[in-house]
Amino acid sequence: MPTKQELDIWRKAGKASSEVKKYAKTLIKKGASIVDIADKIEKEIYKYGKPSFPVNIAINEKAAHYAPLYNDKTILADDIVKVDFGVSIDGYPTDTAFTIDLSGKNASMMRATEKALQEAIKLATPGRKVCEIGRKVHETITQQGFSPIRNLSGHEIQRYTLHAGLSIPNYDNGNETILEENMIIAIEPFSTTGTGIVKDGKESGDYSLIEKKPVRDANARKILEFIEKEYSTLPFAGRWIYNKFGLRGMNSLRLLCEHGIVKNYNELIEISKKPVIQFENTVLVKDKPEILTE
Ligand code: MN
Ligand code: MN
Repeated sequence: MPTKQELDIWRKAGKASSEVKKYAKTLIKKGASIVDIADKIEKEIYKYGKPSFPVNIAINEKAAHYAPLYNDKTILADDIVKVDFGVSIDGYPTDTAFTIDLSGKNASMMRATEKALQEAIKLATPGRKVCEIGRKVHETITQQGFSPIRNLSGHEIQRYTLHAGLSIPNYDNGNETILEENMIIAIEPFSTTGTGIVKDGKESGDYSLIEKKPVRDANARKILEFIEKEYSTLPFAGRWIYNKFGLRGMNSLRLLCEHGIVKNYNELIEISKKPVIQFENTVLVKDKPEILTE
């Protein structure tokens, strides 16, 4: 479990996320480009620390894992826009997400999802079985006539590891593992009018280094060294490589993926292509749970 000093850094990273979130909300408008939004949010994050992962902006039936591509031309319209990001200070990452419904047609699903998060956070206490949190999320969302997404979940967070060990389910999956005092967890209910399952969609701008292997191409070697030094095994955006190395950098990145050195993530889409809403906070497990990212 983190020491008191470590918790203080985490609280600082959480406070920073909360400040960045206020700013990020002002950027979500019809006509805005998602590359521009991601660039601006990441720039704001660097005022406090580093991004825990590339800013993800998932629209409508896209549920998660969508960082804008380097050449993404998407402009926001009457969309449901989910922004997922985190600030990491000294390797202590936070993770938070919010949804803005530019269509204005999903007020009750927005409320149900926010309520599911609030209710779940109340249960982030020492000794709690994680399936009880899942049951509460499921119950809160289905009571309002929507479905939680069952194959996406929250997670424990540790230093340098955003998705550490424990999963925090969005339905009662029977996992009776208990929360311990001072654990850091991300709770992230997703809800949909669809089936409540996600599958892989198209490629996204999210990447990470998975296995260091020798590579013959000199430029690819240069890019690999840069990735190792800057991001190690943490997720990074193809856009960041493009901004620094241009198209040659992107070509090398493709080569590194082909060699199984770097993984390119797919966006996750709701299988019935129905809209998805997400809210997420990073929480410190206590008798009185502490929300770090709010
Ligand atoms: Mn997240
Ligand atoms: Mn998360």
